[in-house]
Amino acid sequence: MSAESTKSGPPLKTSHPITFLIIGGGIAGLSTALALRRVGHYVLVLERKSRDVARGHGGVRLPPNLTKILFHWGLKPALMQRALVTHTMLFMRYESGEDLGEHVWDKGMLKETRGIYMLCTHDDLYGLLYEAAVSSGAQIRYDANVVSINSEEREVTLQSGEKINADVLVGADGEFGLSRSTVIGQDGFGTPTGLAMYDTIISSEHVTKHANASTWKDHGIFTAFGSGRAIVAYPVHGTDDLAMQFYGPDDNEGQYGDEPSVDMPEVTVQLCDHFQPLMKLARKAVRVSIRDHSDLDEWISDDGPLVLIGEAAHPFPPGTIQATAMAVEDGAVLARVFSHLSEDRQIDSFLYAFQELRQPRTRSVRAGEFGNIFFMTLEDGEDARQRDDSMRAMAAKGTNVLEGLGGDVSRLWDEIRTIFGYDCEDEADDWWVQWGMLRERALKRNNVDAGQMPATPLLDFSSLMSSVQVTETAQEE
Ligand SMILES: Cc1cc2nc3c(=O)[nH]c(=O)nc-3n(C[C@H](O)[C@H](O)[C@H](O)COP(=O)(O)OP(=O)(O)OC[C@H]3O[C@@H](n4cnc5c(N)ncnc54)[C@H](O)[C@@H]3O)c2cc1C
Repeated sequence: MSAESTKSGPPLKTSHPITFLIIGGGIAGLSTALALRRVGHYVLVLERKSRDVARGHGGVRLPPNLTKILFHWGLKPALMQRALVTHTMLFMRYESGEDLGEHVWDKGMLKETRGIYMLCTHDDLYGLLYEAAVSSGAQIRYDANVVSINSEEREVTLQSGEKINADVLVGADGEFGLSRSTVIGQDGFGTPTGLAMYDTIISSEHVTKHANASTWKDHGIFTAFGSGRAIVAYPVHGTDDLAMQFYGPDDNEGQYGDEPSVDMPEVTVQLCDHFQPLMKLARKAVRVSIRDHSDLDEWISDDGPLVLIGEAAHPFPPGTIQATAMAVEDGAVLARVFSHLSEDRQIDSFLYAFQELRQPRTRSVRAGEFGNIFFMTLEDGEDARQRDDSMRAMAAKGTNVLEGLGGDVSRLWDEIRTIFGYDCEDEADDWWVQWGMLRERALKRNNVDAGQMPATPLLDFSSLMSSVQVTETAQEE
């Protein structure tokens, strides 16, 4: 029997469908739309860009904690068509090209996680989620730029002047979006770290001349450690292309969605002679500045039901393994919690339950991702020497280079195992059993019925309801 997660049976459907308006149709917005439709709520997504422009062309790593969610949602066949399965990581020195060994994911460990580790592009994942969300009955409007949010009235205004309201507003409009500043009460753009990630693609016909062919066939992830610089690269598009992310100094602010403008050889200075010629063959890169943000105490507006998810709630360093996974987990958990909705009065407490479930998880994972970037880009010195010597020693013994190392590396490795093994939907189910259901019982025991609870204001969402096409075709498990 397969160890991969295949929770069978349709998901629990709400007995009280409500309307959700999702601001931002990125990965978080689309995942949340699909997940909410699966449990029976009505969803409208507003995306300011066109459908072609809202997607990126760089690589995305899909760790097991993410793929298992997509499997639960019945998307495994579609995912297997678009993404490659990876088992191996290869490490080298950026400046010299010296091989530092490899790490093959332990089959037992991956089995425990009940997912698989996969590689694709943002565009591949976006297309998969878009198609599934639309066929589940979510409505998605492109070229719909939200210019103001009134959480008290549960209403947004589009650039065209159109106003739309719903029972719950979901802010999925990213690190620089309006939702984040609406909840915080000021902009929340963070501070520059001085590092940027440069995202590009190279055709594999150029790469195979430089890289070990068997590694290429095995869909390995290459990582090159440099002093203040690093490269992460892996095959995508059925190995036709190599997705490459270069971490290095940031000399000009940029973000995802910007026009690709950077010539790779200009930034990959000091790269070893073997690989530097390859950079001339790379497409122009998108520069994404890495910013540091303080954790938000609240993801929910004080004025009304506006909740932040994805990058709007917890901006991650770009290109990291878990950035995309956390956005999908957010959507899965929000929907799982709201599958139990039976009355309007529960909306606020369910939003806070979502926040409580997600904040500790995303905080610790984000800290770990910053740690990974730090680990890859260690400046030359004692720490970098120890890291490399330890890996060389493990490689000489023929063992996995990340396992069994001391200190921080070992801790990092343990953290990765825990993060991969996490099942966010199980956590949401546990919340219901341990807290949600008990709270409902306590309310009933104390004779606090819906009539005695504070009322949710009556809203006019007729405009939304008339425009939402609801088809009961939730994805099969
Ligand atoms: C164009 C693009 C390309 C990307 N490419 C990659 C990649 O190649 N590799 C990678 O690892 N990560 C990529 N990312 C980042 C990745 O999507 C995130 O790290 C993560 O998956 C979570 O994203 P999110 O949906 O929370 O936020 P985002 O991905 O930032 O999506 C937010 C969405 O909200 C929309 N939006 C913003 N303001 C408004 C508004 N006022 N009204 C309506 N809509 C609004 C934006 O246009 C965007 O589509 C990309 C992001 C974008 C936007």
